Amino acid sequence: LAQLFRPLDLLGMVYRTIRQGLIDMEAMFRLIDTPPEIKDADGAPMLAVAGGAVTFENIVFGYDSDRTILNGVSFAVGAGETLAIVGPSGAGKSTIARLLYRFYDPQGGRILIDGQDIKAVTQKSLRAEIGIVPQDTVLFNDSIGYNIAYGRADASIEEIAAAATGAAIDGFIAILPQGYETEVGERGLKLSGGEKQRVAIARTLLKNPPILILDEATSALDSRTEAAIQDTLERIAARRTTLVIAHRLSTVTGADRIIVLERGRVVETGTHDQLLEMRGLYADMWARQQAEKEEGTV
Ligand code: ATP
Repeated sequence: LAQLFRPLDLLGMVYRTIRQGLIDMEAMFRLIDTPPEIKDADGAPMLAVAGGAVTFENIVFGYDSDRTILNGVSFAVGAGETLAIVGPSGAGKSTIARLLYRFYDPQGGRILIDGQDIKAVTQKSLRAEIGIVPQDTVLFNDSIGYNIAYGRADASIEEIAAAATGAAIDGFIAILPQGYETEVGERGLKLSGGEKQRVAIARTLLKNPPILILDEATSALDSRTEAAIQDTLERIAARRTTLVIAHRLSTVTGADRIIVLERGRVVETGTHDQLLEMRGLYADMWARQQAEKEEGTV
């Protein structure tokens, strides 16, 4: 019987290899492929970051002309502050992050970093100043060291190790048979969701940007892992301007400001305590999530 299954195993392996290849390509395209209409203005200067203050001024945006996703969104995040963006699924939270990275240009309004319109500066200089820890990190079929250094080919092993320590994944790497040379990804060692997120955090630390976008994972990690990752994220967000796209309100109670987005509009703004006092959408969402927690479903 085992003989019979061997060709199937082989087929499975071929399939997985091809599939992983495609995932790698997808990841590459997500990183480098921007719609052709996003172009640097002639003679565009580089972005000059002082503290990294971010301002959205009356932003109107739709992916297609027949549907507006953001309907005049305004907010300001001071240099070094943390702003959390919460709201129902589909409200436009991730869209805000994509616009700040300039994957798209808004149809109305302006996005400023330290007073400079991000449309007027080079894309390269803009993206060099922004680090993203995405919901779901795609690993390349390569060593864990390569995956951490991705985007910083010149990084020394000491720098990679320091980033791994900052992301609290150094202990995990230390006990791997080949350390930083250990192959990960579909063909190598499979990492858990939490471990992959730590690789993304290490990658971001190596980039050391003044502005951070944290896109919280929707898929729940176990609560101990989540609390540990939360600690790490709070540490790296300190002293950087940070936008957190949050699905669980419990992770953003400490944010300097929270904006509540509903159908592409900012409907409430404040700290956690201020928003609870308003007894509006945020307070409802909070009550619901607390009840779910007590039932043990979250
Ligand atoms: P979630 O909490 O579920 O992640 P979100 O608030 O982050 O949701 P967005 O991802 O910003 O929501 O999406 C807002 C709306 O824009 C959704 O209705 C979505 O279908 C639409 N949308 C997102 N990306 C695209 C795209 N590339 N092309 C067209 N529509 C899109």
